[in-house]
Amino acid sequence: MRILLKAVFLTITLASSSFGGEFKQARWLMGTVAEIDLFADSETKADAAFEAAFAEMAKIDSLMSNWKADSEISIVNREGHIRPVKVSPELMETLEASLKYSRLSRGAFDVTVGPLVRLWGFMGGEKRVPALDEIVRALRSVGYEKVLLDSGSLKVQLAGVGVYVDLGGIAKGYALDRATLTLKRLGIQRALLDLGGNIYALETRPDGKPWEVGVRNPRDESRILTVLRLKNQAVATSGDYEKYFTINGKRYSHIIDPRTGKPAVGCVSATVVAPTAVESDALSTAVFVMGPKKGFALLKTIPGVAGIAVSDKMRVSKCNLE
Ligand code: AMP
Ligand code: MG
Repeated sequence: MRILLKAVFLTITLASSSFGGEFKQARWLMGTVAEIDLFADSETKADAAFEAAFAEMAKIDSLMSNWKADSEISIVNREGHIRPVKVSPELMETLEASLKYSRLSRGAFDVTVGPLVRLWGFMGGEKRVPALDEIVRALRSVGYEKVLLDSGSLKVQLAGVGVYVDLGGIAKGYALDRATLTLKRLGIQRALLDLGGNIYALETRPDGKPWEVGVRNPRDESRILTVLRLKNQAVATSGDYEKYFTINGKRYSHIIDPRTGKPAVGCVSATVVAPTAVESDALSTAVFVMGPKKGFALLKTIPGVAGIAVSDKMRVSKCNLE
C-alpha cells in the first residue's frame, strides 16, 4: 500500500518556475522510490542534474543488485569462491565500507548474511521459519572475514562455496553519496535526496533553514516521532515494518542477526544521522541488530553521528540528540 501510494507520485514532476527555483523529480530505482528535490537557476540545469543523479543510482544498482544476474556482485557470488573477480572501484569501495562497519559493530552488520536472508525467504521464494539445522548450515557460510579484498588490483575472493554477499543494508546509502557527488559536480548546491528512506541533505534551503525530515512512528505511518534538521548530513532508518512476515502473531523481519541466524529482535526501528549516507545506512542496520543499548554505545564512539531507536516495548531513546 505504501509503495503503491508512492508509485502514484512517479508521474508527478514539479517545477516551480521555468527560470529558476525548486525542482522535484521521482523515479522508481533500486526497488524503491528515489526522489530528488533541488534548487537550480534554470529548468535545463535542473533536468540535466536529475538525469545524471538518477543515472548514477541506476549504475550503482547495476553493479550491486542481487536481483540482476549480470551485476558485479552476482558474478562475485557465483565465481568468487573459484577465482579472484575483478570489480569496479565503486563495488570495491562499498565492500571496504561494509567490512569496516562489520568490524566496528563486531559482526552485527555483515554483508555475508545473504544465505540467511535467502533461507528466511527475503530474497524471493517462500517466507518461512527454517528448521534449526538449516540455520546452523547457513551460518557456516556467514562471516565477513570470508570476503577477501585486494584493493590495489580491485579483486574480490570469497572463502567458501556457499558464501553469498547481500549489499541490501548499505548499497542505497552508497548510491545516495554518489548521486550527491554527481549533483555537486553539475553545480547544484542545495538538494534533498531520498532513496527509499535513506536521505541526504545537501547544504540548506536558500533561506538558510536546514532541511527538515520527519522520522515516522514505526507502528503508525501518520504519526511523526521527531523532526530532524539536517545540513550536509544523511539519515537512514532500519525498521521491522519494511519487509516482514507474521506467523502465530510473531513478526519475523528482514534484518537478520548474523550471530544467531534469526531475525534480529529488540528494535522496532533504528534511525541514524551521520555525515555520509553510507555511514547512516550501515549504522542504522547495525543498531537495529545490536539493540538500542549496545547500538548507542557504538554510535558514541563515532564522530558526528546521532540516533533514535524504538525498542520492541515501544520505548523511544535518543543518542546525541535533544
Ligand atoms: P536496511 O533496510 O538498510 O537496514 O537493510 C536491510 C537489508 O540488508 C535486508 O533486506 C538484507 O538484504 C540486508 N541485511 C539483513 N540483515 C543484515 C545484517 N545483519 N547486516 C547487513 N545487511 C543485512
Ligand atoms: Mg542499512
